[in-house]
Formats: sequence, C-alpha cells, structure tokens
Amino acid sequence: MNVSADIQSHTSNAPSHHHNRQVSGLHKTVIKYGMWVNILIVAIWKYKNVASALKKIRLLSKAKDAYRGENKLLKYSLAGNRYFFSYNAPGWPSKSFNRYIQHQLAQFGDNTTISLHTLIFGITKKCGFKCEHCFEWENLNKPETLAKEDVSSVIKNFRNLGVSIVQFSGGEPLNRLADITAIVQDFKGVDFWIYTSGYHLTNDKAAQLKKAGLTGITISLDHWVPELHDSFRGKKGSFEWVEKAAKHTVANNLILCLSLCATNDFISQENLSNYIELAKNLNASFIQILEPKAVGHYAGKNVSLSEEKIRLLEHFYKKINFDQQYKNYPTIIYHGFYSRRVGCSGAGKDYLYVDMDGFAHDCPFCQKKIFNVLHGDVEEQLTRMRTLGCNVFNSVKNK
Ligand code: SF4
Repeated sequence: MNVSADIQSHTSNAPSHHHNRQVSGLHKTVIKYGMWVNILIVAIWKYKNVASALKKIRLLSKAKDAYRGENKLLKYSLAGNRYFFSYNAPGWPSKSFNRYIQHQLAQFGDNTTISLHTLIFGITKKCGFKCEHCFEWENLNKPETLAKEDVSSVIKNFRNLGVSIVQFSGGEPLNRLADITAIVQDFKGVDFWIYTSGYHLTNDKAAQLKKAGLTGITISLDHWVPELHDSFRGKKGSFEWVEKAAKHTVANNLILCLSLCATNDFISQENLSNYIELAKNLNASFIQILEPKAVGHYAGKNVSLSEEKIRLLEHFYKKINFDQQYKNYPTIIYHGFYSRRVGCSGAGKDYLYVDMDGFAHDCPFCQKKIFNVLHGDVEEQLTRMRTLGCNVFNSVKNK
C-alpha cells in the first residue's frame, strides 16, 4: 500500500481550518440553553427585577412560537465562532445579539416601540452587471448622491432606533470597499453584511472585510448551471466568481448566504435539488429565496410565480429546514412563506430598504419612495410607514 498516497487522501478529506457548519442535536440544544441564559441576563439587567424579566421572556418565547407554528428549528449555523439561529438575527454571543434581544423585549407591554431590527441599505449605484431581475435597474450607474458621512449618519440614526443588522446592497457594494471597511470598523453592536454578485471578491478583500468586523456575505447565485447563471446575470464568468467569492468568504470565517431569485422557469425538483447540493458544497449557511417581482428590469413582465411553483418552493423549504435528513444542509430563508401567512415584515416592521439616494421603501422589491431618511424626523416618518404597512402581501392576506 502506498502510505504517502493514503495520507494525502486523508489530508484532502480533512476539514479545512474554517469553522462554518450547521449544528443540530445535543450541540444545538446546549447552545440554545446558553442563548436563553444570556437572554435572561440581558432581561434582568434591563428590568432590574427577576419577575418582570421572566414575564417578558415568556412573552418573547410565545411570540416566537406563534411565528414559527408547528415548524421547530432543527439547526443553527456556526461561523466565525458565533451561532446564528436565523439570517435575520445577529450571531451569538455578541454585543449585537444583546442589543437585538433588548430591543425585542421592549416590544411587550408597549405597542408604540419601534420593532425594526434590519436596515437594507443601497450604498452605490455603480454596477457592471445586467441582471434579469435587477430592482434598481433604472438607477444604476447614475451620479452618486450619498457621501460616506451620509451613510454613517443614516446608520447612526437607525442604530438609535434599535437596528442591529445592516445589509449593504446597491449596485455592487464592493465598489465602495474602502467606505464599507471604515464604517464597519466605526460601529459596534451591529452585524454588518454585504449583498454582492461576488465579482472580484478576492481573498484579500474578504480578509479586509473580516478584519474590519464584517459578519457575513450574501452572494447572488441564480442557477447551478454556470452558463445559465451567467446569462441571468448578463456577465460571462460570474458563476466562476461566485465559487471563488464563496471560498474566500468561508476561508475568512465570514458567514455565507446564497441568494436565489427563483423564477417560474427555474423552479423544478431537479433544479432545487442541484442547487442545494451546490450550496452545501460551497459551505453556505443560508440560502435566501426571493420571488421575482415586476419592478426594475422585470417591469411590465409577467413574472409572478404560479400556484404550482409556490407549492413546490414551500415543500422544498419545509423539507430542507425541518427534515432530520437535511440537518447538515444550509437553512432556507423564504420570506414569501411567512409573508403569505403572517403578513409582510418589511415596511419598517422588522426591516426596511433605503435606496442609493436615501429614500426609504417598504422593501427592495416594493419600489415606492416613502420618505427621505436624510431629512426630517426619521422616527416620526417610520411610524407613519409602519401604520400604512406593506401594500402587496398584507392586501393578499386580508382578502
Ligand atoms: S441585481 Fe445587483 S448585480 Fe445585478 S445589475 Fe442589479 S445591482 Fe447589479
């Protein structure tokens, strides 16, 4: 037997030095209790009284159960020494997690408290892609209006309103790499993400972002077939860059999410299965499924998903997230699933979108400028936005 060949084959199968993986079973249970103890400490510190702390925690737990229904979480994601129970909550343990919990606890007993925790912020109009579904299509590559100081002051305002997660989008946010690293370094107690095509995301850039304190990278991947992803994105070689960018993300202990715009053409058993296998191989912790909307580059087109395709997606979502067999697979985030059942959580409820000129929208896909976050009283305008609510999903729900 050739010993050196044997050692080599073992070495190549050995896990690399990164720690990104899904945890379930006993490991997950232990972490869950750790999180609840942490939540209890935060609550006691906040209310200075054990009885009221426990009361708030019970309400928080009840609200989570009501939201999840019969679907119980099976896995957490471990990345960069932190555990993530959701894509929409900061990793634990961290200052951001504690801020998130404090803010969540504040909801109970006072309906007027703003519950917003996530800001999606388009910080550049620059982009060299021509994606089929681009929601900012009309605004790309026009003169920039937001200076770095504007971006910082918007984040500061929203942090004061409780935001603990900021996702930079665009355009292609990597075009403002220097500004992003400077801003991320400045803000503590906030989990920062970037939402990118992955194009030219070298190891060096990923390392810079990690060093600055970035939490994660969401990379758009719209097909498991390289040529079909490239044609969807309107750029040759983009699939290759998704693979490279994913590798650099994970190697630098950043958490990886892949974002899929699931079109009627794409949704099939075969495509979904191949996609999830590819995502697992790329060490993704999350997959975000977005539904196409007739805005931006899709304006005027009939892109709404058929009932049958929605059923397929929902089945896939439940299978991957809640079936033991898939406990080592990425967790799927499918906003449409919950929006159809409990209403949309955009429109300033849990999150909102601020575009590249500083206008607040209900979400990136429901394009309607509601107010400019650079002028006036943001809290007051946000309250008005929340009262109006999302006009798409909520109207479906109320029918
Ligand atoms: S979706 Fe993103 S990457 Fe694609 S064209 Fe629009 S801004 Fe650029």
